[in-house]
Amino acid sequence: MMSQLPDVRGQLTAQRDLSELTWLRVGGPADYLFRPEDIDDLSDFLRALSPDVPVFPMGVGSNLIVRDGGLRAVVIRMGRGFNGIEVEGNRVTVGAAALDAHVARKAADAGVDLTFLRTIPGSIGGAVRMNAGCYGSYTADVLCRPQWFCAVARLSP
Ligand SMILES: Cc1cc2nc3c(=O)[nH]c(=O)nc-3n(C[C@H](O)[C@H](O)[C@H](O)COP(=O)(O)OP(=O)(O)OC[C@H]3O[C@@H](n4cnc5c(N)ncnc54)[C@H](O)[C@@H]3O)c2cc1C
Repeated sequence: MMSQLPDVRGQLTAQRDLSELTWLRVGGPADYLFRPEDIDDLSDFLRALSPDVPVFPMGVGSNLIVRDGGLRAVVIRMGRGFNGIEVEGNRVTVGAAALDAHVARKAADAGVDLTFLRTIPGSIGGAVRMNAGCYGSYTADVLCRPQWFCAVARLSP
């Protein structure tokens, strides 16, 4: 079933070693690694993919230990097409691949307090999945909708 994967505009690589992509530099190959070009590429791929094919989304691998035998799945790693950060009032709209530290910094520049994200070495997709947090604040405290963070506090000017 993996031999009939849909066409993509991004990169689809067979037998991709995951050890270069995880923080701890461990892990065997994924059957396929898919780096979608943008959200349309990702949604077209998922729509056309057989439901029998397992998919595994990954962020930047700071909370992943992949076994040496690798993953029998299409691992999806989002990149440049998914790292937008927009701040409007207290609402921060963020792509899944944006890094937590970048989001914290850009939010702070606009006076929005997402300081707790500053030192977490992951992506926003990973933060939502793991409910990442520190200093007593967690992603769930500020997540309004899948892509929106509504900070409860603004930084003092
Ligand atoms: C040195 C160090 C310090 C850390 N400090 C903290 C800390 O202070 N607080 C804290 O909470 N954590 C901390 N962590 C853990 C880790 O950084 C967080 O869990 C982080 O949120 C993981 O994000 P990631 O992008 O690396 O996700 P990954 O490790 O790539 O993936 C983690 C999980 O999220 C899922 N996932 C990732 N992206 C997506 C997506 N786009 N869509 C759906 N699912 C997705 C994956 O399938 C997987 O189940 C630390 C880790 C390290 C190595």
